[in-house]
Amino acid sequence: MKEELKQISRNCYMLTNKDSWVEIHIYLNRSLFEGFGEEESIHQLYNASLLPGVVSPVVGMPDIHTGYGLPIGGVMATDYKNGVVSAGAVGMDINCGVRLLTTKILADEMDKNKLTKILDAISRRVPSGVGKSSVLKHLRKPPLEAIASEGAGYFIKMGFGRKEDIERIEDGGCIKGADPSCVPAAARNRSDQLATIGGGNHFIEIGKVSKVFDEETASKFGLYPKHLYVLIHTGSRGFGHQICTEFSRIMWEHAEKNGARAPVKGLACAPIFSEDGQNYLKAMACAANYAFSNRQLITHFVREAFVEALKKSEADMDLNILYDVAHNIAKKEKYGDKWLLVHRKGATRALPAGHGDNPLHFLKTGHPAIIPGSMGTASYVVIGTPEIERTFCSVNHGAGRVMSRKKARSEFTKEDLLEQVKNVVITSKDLDALLDEAPMAYKDIDEVVFTLVEAGLTKPVVKLRPMAVLKG
Ligand code: 5GP
Ligand code: MN
Ligand code: MN
Repeated sequence: MKEELKQISRNCYMLTNKDSWVEIHIYLNRSLFEGFGEEESIHQLYNASLLPGVVSPVVGMPDIHTGYGLPIGGVMATDYKNGVVSAGAVGMDINCGVRLLTTKILADEMDKNKLTKILDAISRRVPSGVGKSSVLKHLRKPPLEAIASEGAGYFIKMGFGRKEDIERIEDGGCIKGADPSCVPAAARNRSDQLATIGGGNHFIEIGKVSKVFDEETASKFGLYPKHLYVLIHTGSRGFGHQICTEFSRIMWEHAEKNGARAPVKGLACAPIFSEDGQNYLKAMACAANYAFSNRQLITHFVREAFVEALKKSEADMDLNILYDVAHNIAKKEKYGDKWLLVHRKGATRALPAGHGDNPLHFLKTGHPAIIPGSMGTASYVVIGTPEIERTFCSVNHGAGRVMSRKKARSEFTKEDLLEQVKNVVITSKDLDALLDEAPMAYKDIDEVVFTLVEAGLTKPVVKLRPMAVLKG
């Protein structure tokens, strides 16, 4: 299908679905396009463009790679009145997202010993790895009703954070309309993982602001050269995963009844205003609020760990949240005079300056979109330009994989990995388990980020360099 893609503007390739007349736009620069071998992900966007009520274009981000149903790095908007919602198009890890903390700490003050101490202090409080549950016993049976109605605010009220944190989280850390009675029992049984990172790609990273592109915006964001940052990447853990699994099955089984048949199970969907569609959105909001709570609790434990390891007060270090933004979620948004449900799967929302859905303090700049790269390369903070409406205000959510986990494990040795992450402190004893996360398993983050910059959709604000990483 790659040969059917026609370039329509700088770094943007198009294919038209001749059945639905919905366009598919994929953003790649010349070298990403030439190296692009993800045929299956184009098929997946094509399938998405056949769903009832889908709105043109279905978009592939420069970090696109094959996923379940919709590719990772995929954006699909549906008409809010007559369209569908698809659990698979939101993804398994509902509200997987990143949170960036800024600090007053200078990177020069850090050394391997201090960074190791911080990582150790974090990992005593925040377990990483597949299937781990909370360190604190009472978090293993969390109050799902309170989480649904208050989100991260509930835990701030309980002492896990600062009052001002809440304004620094997308949707104030709480998506409205969450209803725990719509959460299947199997998912409730997996709600014991608050304040845990999870496996593989999830991480807590400490690094420094290594380059400033836009000084004015960077200083408004509290991002200064050589200052330390903390990046937290995790989501709704087994809880959200199970909600996606259950609703994908329900939507698939009820396709005829609901009059919404998807071409593949991974895109199983239901009309937004059907019972299944509404139940999913209410359960999805529960998982989203669980994920905001997860990142809030981790933030609290990271602050505690810095205090313990560096023997400084929180006030001496700041550790303020810059922003917390989801990259697996479906949201109701207005484009022109139409309300749409924008599914972003491995795609980050980036509302431009002046957009009314911005938190007030980001209204003049647009809110920061946080884009992690890999544990050995770089990450970026960007903002959307007014042109960003072409992608339904979405940007890439990372570098994206160039090879599968399996291929990475067979391709790289421990020595390769150490070479790729030199100068980054990694306390994990089991380097074999990290081979599939080797930086070279990912695309070049600079190429990916500047694909959208050159397309006129984003502006870079700062570049970040990792110094120490705790991997899932
Ligand atoms: P995903 O949400 O698809 O699991 O991953 C998001 C992105 O995070 C990946 O595409 C990759 O570019 C990036 N990433 C994975 N591991 C790390 C890490 O340890 N540090 C940073 N900064 N980025 C990472
Ligand atoms: Mn995730
Ligand atoms: Mn993620």
